[in-house]
Amino acid sequence: MTLDTSIEFLKNIGPERAKVIKNVLGLATVEDLLTFYPLRYMDKSKVYKIGDLTKEPDADIQLRGKITDIQEIAYNKGKRLSAKFRDETGSLDLVWFRYSKWMKESIPLNKELFIFGKVNFFNGSFSMPHPDIETDEKKALHGTLLPIYPGSEKLSKRGINNKFFQNVILSILKELPSLISENLPTYLSSSLQLTDRQSAFYNIHFPKDYQHFQAADRRLKFEEAFFFQLGYGLKKLHQKTKSFGNPFPIVGDYFNHFYENCLPFELTGAQKRVLKEIRTDMRRSTQMNRLLQGDVGSGKTMVALLTMLIALDNGFQSCLMAPTEILAQQHFNSIKGLLQDTAINVRFLTGSSKTADRKIIHNELENGELSILVGTHALLEDKVKFKNLGLAIIDEQHRFGVAQRAKLWAKNNIPPHILVMTATPIPRTLAMSFYSDLDVSVIDEMPVGRKPIITAHRREKDRLSVYNFCREEIEKGRQIYFVYPLIEESETLDYKNLMEGLDHVMNFFSSYNVTMVHGRMKPAEKDANMQYFASGKAQIMVATTVIEVGVNVPNASVMVIESAERFGLSQLHQLRGRVGRGAEQSYCILMSDDKLSKESRTRIKTMVQTNDGFRISEVDMELRGPGDILGTQQSGTIDFKKLNLIEDSAIIKASKSAVEKILEQDSLLNHPDNQIMKQYYIRQYKGKNKWSQIS
Ligand code: ADP
Ligand code: MG
Repeated sequence: MTLDTSIEFLKNIGPERAKVIKNVLGLATVEDLLTFYPLRYMDKSKVYKIGDLTKEPDADIQLRGKITDIQEIAYNKGKRLSAKFRDETGSLDLVWFRYSKWMKESIPLNKELFIFGKVNFFNGSFSMPHPDIETDEKKALHGTLLPIYPGSEKLSKRGINNKFFQNVILSILKELPSLISENLPTYLSSSLQLTDRQSAFYNIHFPKDYQHFQAADRRLKFEEAFFFQLGYGLKKLHQKTKSFGNPFPIVGDYFNHFYENCLPFELTGAQKRVLKEIRTDMRRSTQMNRLLQGDVGSGKTMVALLTMLIALDNGFQSCLMAPTEILAQQHFNSIKGLLQDTAINVRFLTGSSKTADRKIIHNELENGELSILVGTHALLEDKVKFKNLGLAIIDEQHRFGVAQRAKLWAKNNIPPHILVMTATPIPRTLAMSFYSDLDVSVIDEMPVGRKPIITAHRREKDRLSVYNFCREEIEKGRQIYFVYPLIEESETLDYKNLMEGLDHVMNFFSSYNVTMVHGRMKPAEKDANMQYFASGKAQIMVATTVIEVGVNVPNASVMVIESAERFGLSQLHQLRGRVGRGAEQSYCILMSDDKLSKESRTRIKTMVQTNDGFRISEVDMELRGPGDILGTQQSGTIDFKKLNLIEDSAIIKASKSAVEKILEQDSLLNHPDNQIMKQYYIRQYKGKNKWSQIS
């Protein structure tokens, strides 16, 4: 038997069952079974006492006592069966949601016995649904924890049940010494107090007790995190040595003049720090690949501009690419505004730029007269050629793919430095492990004087008071956004809702000017309406999520989000970021249906509770899973078996610093102590990594 042996050759499996197991659970080899981890455990090691329970136990447990007071209770449309279970220290409720008459009558009452199952804690009391009942003491006690594996009805119909998996896996564990070997050097496992690999596999399936389970669990999680980090660490080393970049050694007149004369405010400490990190990168003769994370409103645009001025000081052109026309326009306007007292040549290019304008842009780009080009993905077109592109800044990373980033690289012989800006905060652990090919800078501080946005949840019955509140704000000179969902599958219906919403708002606020933007409008019309609002001529903007990214109207202080339950968490956070950009107190009002799913309730509650984009992204990841956040295409690489990117951040940190230390001292993993690790890595990543180019 080896790890690659097909499970059909194992005792008691055979080709038929192997096929079913493969179809239902995707398990094909001995290794797959070995890493088919239990969902939870039955604690057969001891008898618990009700009085000792302080929280829900992690494993299924057993208790010794008597069942009393059995009764049927009407419940929704059906009935359920309920009973008391008592031992000498207390009592808990037993519940059966499905039962037969026969079963009800066969429950032994007032007789000393064992019950076994999962204890739940709810509303201050403990209960156990569907307990197993055992009257024979010899069968009850087993002395260990026993695994419960994921299963399905389809499998158990064929006799492939929990007992089956226990037996098969036990037979594999008997061969463990010849199957697997250690893959972490001793110096590492002893300094981090990691249990050895063999006992980890043994104890993850059949732990002697809870401590043994935890040690095994920690070891296996560390292993996953460690080899993942090692892969990225090696890739990054490789990249650093390969991709040349233009060094930007100086900070010169363009930067200094602007900094001293045109800067409209003091930079925040975080902006200064990030700028320093960027400076350090660009001074080197390797290409910068940096992700700039900063919550909405944290001031990324200014960092972008200052970075472009450094490029200019070193004789290079820059471009800034944004995912939507509106956002690109906003960037252009604010950069143009900030540079108005300088002679720096800035231009704007989108898909709808006129041919005459394009000609000028193409010319000036090629002869080097144009210093800064702002635009949409129109910048990627082949016709757009630079004389010497030294820096490419991409705003809102999530809308552009890796392939598009690569296209920008190719716009210069020596690839330009790349700065990717994103306001969609990615959980720290995820950024750390996933974006290892990018260095990460974080603006974690808001400009001074910002008041945190107050967020409230309101329902249809509150609409009038919400409108009245908006009116008061308008009377104070503020502006209001009303945002409607526009989701593709139901576009027509949503469009109708939007128009009705517009009608409604125009009726109620008939003495004010109302404007609108949505995705079906022509860019010119969109821009005109946006401008009408931004200039303060309209007090109310009715919009769909096209305003989600980047729009900057500091005087807007209220955002009403209609059907908020239909928006994703990060989308809500992005939308909310459109207010709270000025000195005034701002508000975000989430309107929703009366009936909410559990998930939408969590989303709305989170929004009401916090403004912290990182906290929000963590909740989002808990709700949706990391794969969904990063896009399906990327989820495969972070498909961990044991590791949880949120709960296990301590392990991820430990693994990352271990990898960094090891690669710093032995970047080719040639030290004899590191051989087991190298061999394991090569086996795991066969063909997936260009190991040969590194070693
Ligand atoms: P984002 O990070 O969301 O792109 P912006 O760059 O659009 O944020 O900045 C949001 C607002 O904050 C803009 O109006 C900008 O002028 C202002 N701002 C940026 N940095 C500072 C600062 N250090 N002090 C005061 N206001 C600032
Ligand atoms: Mg922005």
